Amino acid sequence: MRIIYDREMCQGHNRCYMGAPELFDVDDEGCAVLLVEGEVPSELEEKAQFAADNCPEYAIELTP
Ligand code: SF4
Repeated sequence: MRIIYDREMCQGHNRCYMGAPELFDVDDEGCAVLLVEGEVPSELEEKAQFAADNCPEYAIELTP
């Protein structure tokens, strides 16, 4: 699984960071920063799914 994050769509609700701080940080403008490049470690896949499901701007997508 990989995470595709679209900075242009992000509105800074920080739900991703709250739910998955291992995968997302927050920048100075309050927008998400993706911390993982490439494959998401298997133990974090559930958190990646949570972040994608809870982003109100659909800025986070997952690929197999
Ligand atoms: S939940 Fe979505 S809109 Fe909010 S900070 Fe994360 S990526 Fe951005």
